[in-house]
Formats: sequence, structure tokens, C-alpha cells
Amino acid sequence: ARELDGLGALVRAVPDYPTPGVTFRDITPLLADAVAFNGAVDSLADLVAHHGPVDTVAGMEARGFVLGAALAVRLGVGFVPLRKAGKLPPPVESVTYDLEYGSATLEVRTGTVSPGSRVLIVDDVLATGGTAAAAVSLVGACGGDVVGAAFLLELDGLGGRDALSGLVVDSLLTVG
Ligand code: 5GP
Repeated sequence: ARELDGLGALVRAVPDYPTPGVTFRDITPLLADAVAFNGAVDSLADLVAHHGPVDTVAGMEARGFVLGAALAVRLGVGFVPLRKAGKLPPPVESVTYDLEYGSATLEVRTGTVSPGSRVLIVDDVLATGGTAAAAVSLVGACGGDVVGAAFLLELDGLGGRDALSGLVVDSLLTVG
């Protein structure tokens, strides 16, 4: 088994960012470390192996692109980017979801999720689960079969797993 403690040490806790009282987890030191990044992707591949074959990895902009695309290559499957509003040329499918203040929109290029395909959703961090829940509904609206969601890091105590109830959630690292 691979030592995960070394990975956690490469996630930097940034107090009071982006707003006072919030501790942001910065994963860029982990991504910049060749052994850690490769090890994280290998470990994520092991962690999601219980799903059996998946057809596609879908990752959320922007850090979900980095981990999701790397994992897709490791799994030998395609990658579908779920983008923020206005970045993809039409035609697109969209879903708008609530944030603490205001709302956000995720979009996917129409036709990139095949109806009935087994899709794994990947992002860097699971916090409240709002982004991942939107991704699940967007892929579902395209006819994809979401088999689960996988994260590099889960922030415990923010209700992310509850927001994704009914979905299989795997996280490589967890911080309270
Ligand atoms: P949620 O929608 O679960 O509240 O927030 C998750 C989304 O916001 C993910 O796309 C993730 O990239 C970003 N996010 C929220 N908090 C953090 C954090 O502390 N660190 C990083 N790297 N991303 C975060």
C-alpha cells in the first residue's frame, strides 16, 4: 500500500482564504510533485476499481480537469470536461445550482456523454457537495449513468456526502 501521509503534507492549509473564517486547501504543491501527483492518480485508480469498468471520466473546471484527465488516461477511458458557463461553444447542456451567495452554472458539450455510458465524476475537493451534485444532475440529464464520484480530498463536516446521498463517494484524503 502506498503511504498517503506524504500526500497530505503536500496540501497546504491557507487560513482566511478566500474569505475570513474559511480555510482553503491548496493542492498545487501536490500537483507539482512528480512522485506525489503520480502516486495520487495511481491511488485514485485503485480506489475506484471497485466500480468495475467505467466508460468516461467527467471532471469539473478547473482542478477537476487536472485530476480527472490524468485518471482517465490511467484508466484508459475518455474525458469529458464540465465547464463553467460561457466557455464551451454551442450546443451545450447546462445546469444552474445555488451557491452560498448567488448561483453558478456547469455546462457540457452536447453529445460528449453517451446515453447509458458509465460515468465517474472526479474533482479535487469535496466541500458542501453542491458542485458535485450539479455535475451528477448534468451528466444524468445527458443520459449518462453516474456510477460514483471520486475526490482527492474530502473536507469533513461540510455535508458533502449528505448532498450526494445515494451516490458512491470515494476520497483519497480527508481533513476535518
Ligand atoms: P462544493 O461545491 O463541494 O462546496 O465545493 C467544491 C468545489 O469548490 C470544487 O470544485 C473545488 O475545486 C472547490 N473548492 C472548495 N473548497 C476548496 C478548497 O478548500 N480547496 C480547493 N482546492 N478547492 C476547493
